[in-house]
Amino acid sequence: MSAVTVNDFKGKYQYAVIGAGLSGLIIATKLSQQFEKVILIDSRDLPGGLCHHLDSEHFMIPENENAQSAIDFLNQEFNCGISTSVIENKPQIFHDGKWRPFLGWGASAQPPYYDEVLYYLSPNRFALESNPAQWVDQIFKNYNGEFLPRHFITQIVKEKADPGERGITGIILNGGKKLKADHYIYCGPIKLLDTLCSEENILPPRIRQKIAKHKSWTSISLTLFHKQPIFDSQEVLMLSSYEKKENEAHVFLGQFSKKTVDGNQSFYSQWICFIDIEVSEDSEITGNLIRRMKRQIKKAFPTIFEATIKEKILVSPSSHGHLELKLKENQTIPELPNLWLGSSQISPYAKNMVGSIQQAKMVLTGSSKKVLPTHEITIL
Ligand SMILES: Cc1cc2nc3c(=O)[nH]c(=O)nc-3n(C[C@H](O)[C@H](O)[C@H](O)COP(=O)(O)OP(=O)(O)OC[C@H]3O[C@@H](n4cnc5c(N)ncnc54)[C@H](O)[C@@H]3O)c2cc1C
Repeated sequence: MSAVTVNDFKGKYQYAVIGAGLSGLIIATKLSQQFEKVILIDSRDLPGGLCHHLDSEHFMIPENENAQSAIDFLNQEFNCGISTSVIENKPQIFHDGKWRPFLGWGASAQPPYYDEVLYYLSPNRFALESNPAQWVDQIFKNYNGEFLPRHFITQIVKEKADPGERGITGIILNGGKKLKADHYIYCGPIKLLDTLCSEENILPPRIRQKIAKHKSWTSISLTLFHKQPIFDSQEVLMLSSYEKKENEAHVFLGQFSKKTVDGNQSFYSQWICFIDIEVSEDSEITGNLIRRMKRQIKKAFPTIFEATIKEKILVSPSSHGHLELKLKENQTIPELPNLWLGSSQISPYAKNMVGSIQQAKMVLTGSSKKVLPTHEITIL
């Protein structure tokens, strides 16, 4: 891997991968082993995207066929060494002052982001000894292309005046410099794609309408660092809250854990909830939701905040949400043959981290099928 600055661009790249989260990093790494001129661009300092926000103790991958194949892929392709023993997940819900096994919601208590929550309620999950940030480091070691950090793509360009070019003709970095490539692989949140393409109305109306209707969720996570153990269980916990006045249901997912570093034990819990991206920029609404989450936590664990030394709040816009898009088999937009979509949010197979790995696999499989006339690669 070599880090580049915008002044280093020499001509055209074969592949420009936008977004160095798990999916973009996987795609760029495999392509860089086949092609000489691959560039991976991210607005942040380091690759990994949301994976860096996953507390090593508080993430889960449900046990199912898709997740197993995603983990096998990381192990085979990048030697990530992820073990895959399975444990019971046993989600519990706090109801009438007691923790009970979760069996389902009544219609009124079902939150609008029900599908997002379901991912975390699978009956079994993998007991993972390494964490996603470590997988990202391992994958990045195999990357042979160029990495351009701290650069936000502000526009995707299609020059009408250039009849020789089909599809996208460039991307604008930080509102200024233009970068050109034969192929562009977009791996950021799907909601943002329309904004990036909007100046020149590049996306076909069918895709634009779908993205406009797409529900994208901002996650709010609250990590509490405790002085002492509070709850002796690492099951997924659910606090459900229904506001009659607003006819609004919310669910707060939580998990307690402990970590031993240099012989010292520390105890903490992480809580997460979701809010529509459209309203999450309103700090009053977000603040109210955090207060509501804390009230529910206190109801279930009345002394928890007295035993809390520190808390950390993380707001991650567009971290969750799913959209079905009709793409070509190779994961390009039919009208834009050199724009590939690698975003986890459109994976037809899975969501979240499993979705990013599965979508990356689909893009790589698609590109190996010689759908692209100019390049041949064999991956997988
Ligand atoms: C608090 C929290 C807890 C979670 N817990 C779990 C869990 O337990 N299990 C699980 O499976 N998943 C979990 N997830 C979700 C999981 O982290 C994501 O689904 C997964 O990491 C998505 O990877 P990605 O590569 O598709 O996208 P991202 O990680 O979002 O990567 C996209 C990258 O694109 C970059 N980018 C975006 N737009 C631009 C642009 N215009 N220009 C340049 N760069 C751009 C971003 O900086 C980012 O690095 C959690 C997420 C959060 C926030």
